[in-house]
Parts: sequence; C-alpha cells; structure tokens
Amino acid sequence: MPVNRILFVFFWMICLGQPVLAKTELPSEDEILKTTNVALKYLKESDFEKSLIVSRVALQQALMAKNNNLIAVSYNIIATNYNEFSEFDKAIFYYKKALSFANKTTNNVLKNRINNNLGNVYCFEKKLYKKGIEYYIKSLEYSKKEKDTALVYLINLNITWAYFDIDEFKLAQPYFDYIKEHHKERSNESTIVVFNMLNGMYYSHIKDNAKAHSYFIEAIRRGITGAEKSDLLYSYIEYSMFLDKIGDHKNAYKYIIKHNEINEKIYNEEKLKKAERAGFNLELDEYKRQIGKIEIEKRLQDQSLKKSRIIVLLFILTSCIFLILIVTLYKNVIFKKKSNAKLLFANEELIKAKEQAEEASVLKTQFISTISHELRTPLYGVVGITNMLLEEHKELARSQHLSSLKFSARYLLSLVNDILQINKIEENKIVLESWTFNMSDEINMIKNSLSFLSQKNNNQITVIIDPDIPEYLIGDKLRFSQVLMNLVSNALKFTKNGEVNIIANLVEVIGKANFIEFQIKDTGMGIAVIDQDKIFEKFVQVGRNEEDYQGTGLGLTIVKRLLGLFGSTISLESNIGKGTIFTFTIVFEHDLEKTKSIINEIQVDLTCNQMFKVLVVEDNLINQIVTKKIIEKNNYSCTVVDDGYAALEILDIEDFDVVLMDINMPMMNGFETTRKIRLKGIKTPIVALTAFDKDEITDEAISAGINDIIIKPFESVKLFKIINCLIVETKNVG
Ligand code: ADP
Repeated sequence: MPVNRILFVFFWMICLGQPVLAKTELPSEDEILKTTNVALKYLKESDFEKSLIVSRVALQQALMAKNNNLIAVSYNIIATNYNEFSEFDKAIFYYKKALSFANKTTNNVLKNRINNNLGNVYCFEKKLYKKGIEYYIKSLEYSKKEKDTALVYLINLNITWAYFDIDEFKLAQPYFDYIKEHHKERSNESTIVVFNMLNGMYYSHIKDNAKAHSYFIEAIRRGITGAEKSDLLYSYIEYSMFLDKIGDHKNAYKYIIKHNEINEKIYNEEKLKKAERAGFNLELDEYKRQIGKIEIEKRLQDQSLKKSRIIVLLFILTSCIFLILIVTLYKNVIFKKKSNAKLLFANEELIKAKEQAEEASVLKTQFISTISHELRTPLYGVVGITNMLLEEHKELARSQHLSSLKFSARYLLSLVNDILQINKIEENKIVLESWTFNMSDEINMIKNSLSFLSQKNNNQITVIIDPDIPEYLIGDKLRFSQVLMNLVSNALKFTKNGEVNIIANLVEVIGKANFIEFQIKDTGMGIAVIDQDKIFEKFVQVGRNEEDYQGTGLGLTIVKRLLGLFGSTISLESNIGKGTIFTFTIVFEHDLEKTKSIINEIQVDLTCNQMFKVLVVEDNLINQIVTKKIIEKNNYSCTVVDDGYAALEILDIEDFDVVLMDINMPMMNGFETTRKIRLKGIKTPIVALTAFDKDEITDEAISAGINDIIIKPFESVKLFKIINCLIVETKNVG
C-alpha cells in the first residue's frame, strides 16, 4: 500500500486501559470516546483482533446512544481494520456505512476522511479510478472547507497519480499544478518520493526525457533513504517503463530486477502478515455477523420505539378527543342547567301569569254577573212599573215618552241578558241539555211571540216544516229557540213589507240522529258581501238606522257561539236589496220510547180556579209593588214581607200555598231563609224569584230546599204555570 494514501482514523483521545464492555445502561459520550480510542490504539499497534473487538463494543454503545458521529467513527475503524487485511470489499462496505452516518452530522472533518479512505480503496486497490476520483474530489471539498492545507495537498497528489495511472494527463493538470506550486512548503518524507515520481511520469509523457530522467532518479534516491518501501517499488516500475519507452532496454531490465527484489521482500513480509491474519479471518466473519445483528437489533429497537411512539401518540390523541368530549359534555350540561333554570323561571312566570289570568277571569265573571244582577233588579222595576202605568192609565198609551221609556228599559234588559249569555259561553259554562220537545210547536211559538214585530214592519211570516221530521225530538230546545228567535227577529227587523220564511228540512238520519237543516229567509234589505264576515263579531251593526231599530250588535255573535255548542256552523247568502238566507244544521235525537214516557207524564190538569195564597219575600220596594200587582191581577191573594225574619214569623202563624222568595236580601238571604223554613218543617213550595242567573244558583237553591227558580223579569204566564204546577204537586203528595 502506498504510504501517502493515508487511511484516516481519529485520535480524539489516547486512552489506555481495558476495553469497555457492553453495559445495559446508556453509555455517556465520554465513555464511547474512550472505547473508540482503545480500538484505535490497537489498530495502530496492528493488533487487529483486539481493535475489532473493542470497536464492536464502541459501535454498540454509539448505536445505543444514537450518536451518529461516534457510529461513523466506529465504522471507520472497523473498515480500516478490514482494509489492513486486504479485505477491500468489506472495507468498502463499512466505509460506506461510516459515510452514511457521517453525512447525518455536520462533522466535515469526518466526512472528508471517510471520502478520502474510499477514494484510496477504489483507485489503488480496486483499480476503479473514476469512482475513486469522485470520492477524492468530495474529500477535497471538505478539506478546503476545513482549511486543512496538508490534506488538500495530499489529496491533490492522489488525484494526480490516479489520473496519470489512467493516462488522463489533461484532467490531472490542475491537481498536478497545485502540488508543483505547494510542494516546497507541504512536501514531507512520505510524499516527496511520489512527488518526484509523478514529475518523472509527466515529463516522460511530454517526452522531456532529460527532466523525466532526473525526477525518476531523485524519486529512487529518496525512496532508498526513506522508510516506506512501497513508493520506491512504484518508482522503480515507472522508471523502468520510461527507460523501456526511450529504448534503454538494458537499464529498464536492471530496474525491473531491482523492483522484483524489493517486491519479493515486501511480498514475503505481507505473506507472513497474511498468514497471521488468516488465523482470525474466520472470526472476522463472525464479527461481521455480530455487527449485522447489532444493527438489526437496533433497527428492531427503533421500529418498536417508533411503534410505541405511535401508540403514545394515539393515546395522547384519544385522550385529547376524550378530553374535548368531556369538556363539550360538561359545557352541554352547564348549558342545559342554565336553560333549565331559565325554563323553570319562565314556567313559574307563566304559572303566575296563568293564575293571574284565571283570577282576572273569575273576577270578570263575578263582575259581569254582579253587574247584570244589579242591573236586572232595577230594570225589573222599570219595566214592571211602565207596564202598570200603561195598564192603569190607558190615556198614556199614546205617550211618546212612556213608549220610549218602555223601549229603553227593554233594550237595556236585552243588552244585559246578551252580555251575560256571551260571557257564559266564553267561560264554557253552558252545557247543552236534553229535553223532549215538539219542533213544530217551538217554531210556531217563536213565530207567535214575534207577531208584534212582523205586524210593525208589515211582514208575512211563513213556517214550512218538512213532514218527515219526527214530531218529538230530544235536544236543548231553549238554546235552539234562542238561535231561531235571534235570526227571525233580525229578519223581521231588517225587512219591510216583505216575507220571512222559517224552513226546516230533514236532510239525513243516522240511527237516532236526525240532521235538520234550518233556513231563515227574508226579502229584506240584505247584507253587503264585504260585511258578511263582520256581522258575526261582537257589537257589529251594519247600516244602523237609529229611528227604525236599536239592536245590541250581539245577536249574531250569540247565534254563532250557540251553534258552536251544537257542533254546527252558520252560513249566509245575501246581497244588498236581495234579502238574506241564514242556514244551519242541528242534529236532534229522536227516541220513540223516551218520548212516549215523557209525554205521558205531562198530562197534568193545570186549570184551577181556586184562590191561592202567595207570600212574597222581597226587600226592594218597587219590585214588591210590581210583583204584588202581577199576582193580584191573576186573582191570587198576595202578602208581601220585607225580609227573611218577617217571612219566618208570618209562616208560623199563617199558611200559604206558595212562597216567592227573593235571593239577594240584606241580613238573611233567600237561601238562608228557605233553610230555616224547612227546618221548621214547613213544606210550602218555595220559588226563588231572582235577578241572578239560573245556572249560578241552581245547586245552592236545591240544597236549601227551594223548589224552582224564576228569573226576573219574568213572563207572568210562566210564573203562574210554575206556581200552579208546584201547588198541584204538593197537594197531590199531601
Ligand atoms: P243587532 O242587535 O244589531 O241585530 P246582530 O248581531 O243580530 O245585532 O246583527 C248584526 C248586524 O247584522 C245587524 O245590525 C244588521 O246590520 C245585520 N243583519 C243581521 N240580520 C240581518 C238580516 N236578516 N237582514 C239584513 N241585515 C241583517
């Protein structure tokens, strides 16, 4: 091996001592360095076996410590060991490994040395010059970077030699120029022989034989005095080739002989060395295998590390997701709690508002019922006294004032009644009742009761009843009559010199259900199409004419609501001047069995010419007069007392056939008085005569012992019908 092709290994620290053995814990950088230095020391001493063993330990430690720098250094030492055995392929293998780790570092010195070593092996051992020169050029770059002038010189020398060997003198020129320029200050014992030999080769090439001759002679002279004989060997060969070229065959042969002598000497020494080395070449293979194993283990370790890293990463990731999930859930719960609290609060507010609304509604109902009661009582007086005046003073019958008074009183009364009715419907207090009634009688009764109105406007009322409609039907005849009464009276009011038809048709029968369609038809003024929806609203009156008519504007509202209770709707067909048709259908039950038994029970003879004694308990003086007048007019005897106590006293001493009891009295009301009367064992029928609404007092009246209720103002016919009925009933029982 040429001495100037120096194989570089590192000497960080010369450390003598025992090789460091593999440890289980991670070694420090200092420890690895120490181990490397020990391996290096053995290499220098040509104790390759020990050098390889220690460098293996160093490699293992460097791998464990993941120190790329030291891994590269260890590989470099191993490769150099192989190079020393002339195991060039293995040397190349480990140098390349060393280079791959060195390239991961910023250590340019290390990269430089390994590249140079590879250049040496490729050029001068494997004779692959081009490849070798590539490594040299790399090495030269690093040397320049590191400003290592000695090395720059040496590498230029090697590149020149390599190019000369393959006769590439032109390519060698820049490198050759460099060594010529710097050889004085950089040349040393080991490079001077080669420098002279290269000059000899160059001048031989350019055929400057004299110069070539003197350079070769100088190279040989230096080679003979120097220690390293291999360069002398090359000088002999090159000189011999030169002499041969210039035709001096004799001297050429002489120098070949000299070359052979020295070569043989060196060869023998090499052979000896090789023999020594051969002994552990086998071990070297094992060693190589172990290194391979170490690497595989390391790779496996790395892989498992990677895997565990992935696992840790995944774990962290899932933990993060869980954390986010938990945070979201927590936030959700908090949000829900907050919205729940808000909802609870809103709920409480709503409950409060509802309670307040209910309270207000109860108050409204109470208010309306009180007001209407308070209004009805005096109205009863006004209407009654007006009637009395008209009867007692016939001359006043034509008085405009009196008829206005009567009209106003009646109007007020109907307004109060209507308001009360609507209020009751709105409060859902009305429940339809079931009576058996004669449809035809009912309609004719309405017709008759409105005859005054029909005469006033010169109208003709005609009733057309489908003969298929059963004679007796079951249903709420009172509410039905109310509907009909409102519609017919409207028809009569808004028609002049015309016709009003009340038509009833049986449209369908399903089982006991009879679907009867009613039409109230008039030939009057009609209703404009745009007003047709409005007229069903409260207090709406269209084209009102003060002189002709004063309605309350509640009639159709009541009709619509009452029909709603029947599950029916009302439709309207009309236009200005074209008359009006109101149509609705009500389902009435028809049950022959039920009807028969009821009809049989009605057969009571109410005709009675007896003089009955009536006790009126009433605190209102005007009403006392009105009621007394009505009773006496019917030829009954009437005793009036002011309050409940007086009633009790008189009942103790006198018998009466019937008691008419006012309910709303000071000190002791009608219920209380009745209870006391009944406690005394007095069974005289008691009729509550009150301005209260019937539904409101029925329960209490019955429980107090009252037999029937009549609402003021009343039709006297109705009063006497009830009185007679009760008296007959009591007498029959008695
Ligand atoms: P009112 O007490 O004024 O009669 P209603 O609710 O019964 O109140 O009627 C509302 C309005 O509808 C009346 O003022 C009238 O203008 C109109 N109307 C009702 N029935 C008829 C009809 N048969 N012909 C013409 N107009 C009518």
